[in-house]
Amino acid sequence: MRLILFGPPGAGKGTQAKLLEEKLNIPQLSTGDMFRNAIKNQTPLGVKVKAIMDSGQLVSDEVVVDMVAETIDKAEFANGYILDGFPRTVAQSEAFDALLEKRGEKVDAFVAMEVPDDELITRLVNRGQGREDDTPDKIKVRLAVYQDETAPVLAYYEAKGRAKRINGIGSIEEIQSRILEAIK
Ligand code: AMP
Repeated sequence: MRLILFGPPGAGKGTQAKLLEEKLNIPQLSTGDMFRNAIKNQTPLGVKVKAIMDSGQLVSDEVVVDMVAETIDKAEFANGYILDGFPRTVAQSEAFDALLEKRGEKVDAFVAMEVPDDELITRLVNRGQGREDDTPDKIKVRLAVYQDETAPVLAYYEAKGRAKRINGIGSIEEIQSRILEAIK
């Protein structure tokens, strides 16, 4: 299964993706984690994306799509994956659909986790130890970027009849059950 976990920063995509890895027996594919690793290891990609990531803005579509294309080619992703943090623009969604179509594959499920802004801000501020982009000013930027560039991705998948929305407020277990119900 190729599952997209969608939602604003702080919605809990990463937490749920990690739990679902075991439940669904497919790996998480987090573009944010991949960029953070690249930065930590000071790879050429890491050097390239560090400033933009720290600012709370988005890395260019081309760089992200190339990275995802390379990743899903690996054997461990052959049976599917849980995308977390991708696609984040309509252009990325279109490029991803085209990439999958070429491979004779498709997105099987798209789950949007809905959490109001005030709750997101509280969660992100509390998480804000150790992540350069979890400071109050960067959080503001990231939420604005989400509204402008990422929120339209939901409409894109809704138009294709593939999107489900779930309430992202509740315990980790409750939210996991809602996701599992949505992808049944
Ligand atoms: P995340 O961990 O998903 O919140 O991602 C952290 C940061 O990595 C974002 O604020 C972006 O700078 C960058 N990033 C992650 N995924 C993407 C993506 N699909 N498109 C563009 N930038 C991304």
